Formats: sequence, structure tokens, C-alpha cells
Amino acid sequence: MKFTAVITTAFLFTSAVFAHPSPDADYEANYSLISRAIGSSCKAPEGTGKCGKASTCGGITYNNLCPNDPADVKCCLELTCKPSSGGSGLCRSKSRNGCSGGTFVAGACPGSADIACCVKGGSTSPNPPSTGPKIPANKCKSYVIDNGYKILKQFPGLVHTVWCYANKPGEHGKGRALDFMVKPHAAGGRTLAEWTMKNHKSLNVMYVIWEQRIWNPSRDKQGPWTGWRKMENRGSCTANHCDHVHVSFN
Ligand SMILES: [Zn+2]
Repeated sequence: MKFTAVITTAFLFTSAVFAHPSPDADYEANYSLISRAIGSSCKAPEGTGKCGKASTCGGITYNNLCPNDPADVKCCLELTCKPSSGGSGLCRSKSRNGCSGGTFVAGACPGSADIACCVKGGSTSPNPPSTGPKIPANKCKSYVIDNGYKILKQFPGLVHTVWCYANKPGEHGKGRALDFMVKPHAAGGRTLAEWTMKNHKSLNVMYVIWEQRIWNPSRDKQGPWTGWRKMENRGSCTANHCDHVHVSFN
């Protein structure tokens, strides 16, 4: 009898340690899966974030910190940053997140050099060139002004004025469009328009209009202005964009 008791004890002990998890253990496993779902916290190197859809994360995403969730659920850490050069934004990873529609500014976020402050819009005033027209800084988003000066720099003397209206419909009203005013039918207008098309990626261009023709990277292939989509006659030189190149930015 004593021997049987020893065997039974050993069997019970072994079962407890090595057997298939009990229903309670399964529950625990499921619970931990649920507890790491969207909205639960996650510990990232730069602070405590939240597991969520990567596409809705405005800040830094980290891989493998929400391991039981679908692949598109990542640890998201949203840290606001205020670069000394002005404006504010969210820290983002250059390699994983990018800064679409904005500009990375170094030195305002914790962590490695891959983490930088992504500044969009706001009132940061980029350094205007000493010569040439000025872009009205109070009405346009800062990345639009930045990119506007990049275009201006290529064509010294061509553009006499740049407009950015806040009180107009469409992209102008959103501070995302610039009108580069040139002499009516100036040959340089086409050159500026085509250059902007070629550099649309780095400039974040939504569309370009010159002399009743429009080019939009999401619809049109790159090519000479003569092959751009024709627009309706709007009645006047200015309305037909014969004296200015219109550029909208994303
Ligand atoms: Zn315009």
C-alpha cells in the first residue's frame, strides 16, 4: 500500500508539472492574448506606448512588442516634440514611419538618430532666400513654403510673385497650394511646371497646372507638358493659368 501511495503521488506531481495545460491555463493564455490587443500598453525603448493599428499611429511604431496581435498591430508611441527652430510635431522613426507631408528635424526627440521630430504645417518659417520673391509665410503650411522655395531656387528671375491664399476654395484655402506668377505665356512657365513634375516625389506634389493643362501623379504618366490633360477654357488668361504655375501639395 505504501508503495502504491508513493507511485500515485509521483504521478500526480508529474501530471501537474508536465501535463497538457488545464482549462484554467488555456483561459490564462487567451486572457493574455486579449490583454495585449489594441489599446493595451507596451514598453518601448523611448517610453510606454500603446498597441494599435500601425496605420493610425502618428508617432513611432515598434515591431514585435505586441506579439500576440495581427501583424498590422504595433506598439505605437506618440511623443510630442518642439524643435528649437520652431513649430511642433511628433517623434517618428525615419526608417519605419517617414514624415509624409512634413519635415524631419533632428535633436528634439529621444533615442537613436533614426528618431526625429516630424513637423507638419504650423508656423515655422523656413529661411527664405535673400533674393527673389517671398512666399507669404502666414497663410501657407511650412512644408509648402519650404518646397516652394526649392522650386523658386531652380529658376532665378522667372517668378515675380508667389501667392498663397487662405480665403480661396480648394487646396489654396488649406494652405497647401502656391501660385508662381510669371509673365503671361512665359516659356519658363512650362519649364518650371515640368521640373516640378519630375521632382514631384521629393516635393510631395499633388498636382501641377500650367496653361490649361494639368498633371497629377496619381493619374498621369510623366511626360512633356504638351501631353498633359487639357482643362476647360475658364475665360481669362489668369483663370487659364497662362500667367502662373499652380502647384498643390499633399
Ligand atoms: Zn492656384
